[in-house]
Amino acid sequence: MQEEPKPQFYCPECQVGLTEDDILDGLAVRRYDEVYCYKHFKEKFPNECEEHPGKLVSARCSRCGRPLCDDCAVELVGRKFCRTCKLARVHELRTGEVEGQVDEYPFEEDYRRKSSLPTLILVFAILGLVICGVFCLVAIIMYFVYRRKVARGEILPSKMATAGFIVAIVPLILMIIVIIIAVAAAV
Ligand SMILES: [Zn+2]
Ligand SMILES: [Zn+2]
Ligand SMILES: [Zn+2]
Repeated sequence: MQEEPKPQFYCPECQVGLTEDDILDGLAVRRYDEVYCYKHFKEKFPNECEEHPGKLVSARCSRCGRPLCDDCAVELVGRKFCRTCKLARVHELRTGEVEGQVDEYPFEEDYRRKSSLPTLILVFAILGLVICGVFCLVAIIMYFVYRRKVARGEILPSKMATAGFIVAIVPLILMIIVIIIAVAAAV
């Protein structure tokens, strides 16, 4: 009976104990100063490469399905592999023996999740129109958060967010113009 290895790290999201071996086995991912379990890494950094912080996933290993960024994809006879699978594939091609299927990783074609932000932006923009301009400001701030998340490949873009932004920004600009005119008239 093998002894449970002593955890060296704890996932900051679920506190599960993790070891350096878990990182090597792809069960845990080191990101910045923390080590996350695979599930929480995927949740916190949905479209990021496991090896390269800040780099987005652009392909997947054609053997184990692991997501790869441009830096970690290795090509072999026209197919993209992770480093581990490339070595295994070379071994298979040389010896003709096919090793057992490597662990399957849970996977979706598109990592970007649907976000409730666009709906919120539109709701706040409309609230801004009918109740108080402050809601418009909140909608605009949320719009910039939304834009950043889309740029980072975390969430899916939505026309609703753009619509909300327009609904929020037009009355705000009008309000600013009115204030400027009022101030100018007062002076
Ligand atoms: Zn976790
Ligand atoms: Zn692979
Ligand atoms: Zn990478």
